[in-house]
Amino acid sequence: MNVSFNIPTKILMERNCVYKNAQIFKDYGSKALIVTGKKSASSNGSLNDVVDALNEVGIPSILFNKVMANPTIELVYEGAEVAKRNNVDLVIAIGGGSAMDAAKAIALLARQDIKEDMLFTAEYTSDVLPMIFIPTTAGTGSEVTPYAILTNDVLETKSTISSKYLFPKVALLDGIYMKNLGVKTTINTALDALCHAIEGYLSVKANPMTRALSREAISVIASELENLIEFDLTLDSRDKLLYASTIAGMVIAHTGTVAVHILGYSLTYFNEIDHGRANGLLLASFLRLVNHTYPNLIDDILISLGMESLEEFEEVLNKLLGDKEILSDEEITRYADKAYSVPKLKNTIIDLDIRMLKQILVESMKG
Ligand SMILES: [Zn+2]
Repeated sequence: MNVSFNIPTKILMERNCVYKNAQIFKDYGSKALIVTGKKSASSNGSLNDVVDALNEVGIPSILFNKVMANPTIELVYEGAEVAKRNNVDLVIAIGGGSAMDAAKAIALLARQDIKEDMLFTAEYTSDVLPMIFIPTTAGTGSEVTPYAILTNDVLETKSTISSKYLFPKVALLDGIYMKNLGVKTTINTALDALCHAIEGYLSVKANPMTRALSREAISVIASELENLIEFDLTLDSRDKLLYASTIAGMVIAHTGTVAVHILGYSLTYFNEIDHGRANGLLLASFLRLVNHTYPNLIDDILISLGMESLEEFEEVLNKLLGDKEILSDEEITRYADKAYSVPKLKNTIIDLDIRMLKQILVESMKG
């Protein structure tokens, strides 16, 4: 049996997690840069909690609250300048994937001079500011991954900075910050987490330990699918979705994502379809393709979902997705070609040619 597994991030989950663990901020720095978006962190209470905790332990902080959805390269260089100018020695991210991914790039660029054209390919060193992450959505799992995913206008897609030095030191998890999260964001992020768990299961890099975690994440999310459809979520539901998304993050930290995410990036870049939704739209068709070669793996996934068939799963997905966007023939050809040129496509457990990639797009999104 081959198993390789390493998550260097300390994970703490409880109610009032940030405040109860205020002392932990002192273990990693004496002056913090808080990286977040414009609004949500202040409205869901997370920013207040972090500032209170920092005050409690006497750590001054600078607020960098300019992170937008699908953060740009320009933004992370700007954030790194703010970090350098203010001599911070700790980066705290509050938010969803955008804030967390931007924070990782900022923590890296605050310490290492990397030219823009080398940002995704440089030889990174261990000299990265320590990071403490507080996720306020339950989707990306970025709090436990070594990836920072940014919009790349040169390649017209999203690109990933991947380095073992980008794992946050600590993830503080509390579903309370998701209590008032809207229906669209809640569903899209849950779909993203579900895709992480399932794609990780169908990666050539999967191992028995990541597969065990995938099954756990899938079954926990599955237990909330009906509540997601009704949009009737208790605080306990919110905690479960957050727990599952973090577990799914631990999976992709080892396996990466596969074909669904690779195709999905074009839907986000060119059609401005939310990341999680883009993946959710493509998932069922991808699973049907894998089912031809690996019905046993699809069975495992169905057992974790507590479902009888892929048709049953697709019906649930369709309820969550509602009316679907439609792609033109030209878009389908272009996105399939683009996905085929991505080296990471080879991590998918089945060999996908352009015809199959087109088939996924056609079945999912052709009018
Ligand atoms: Zn994702």
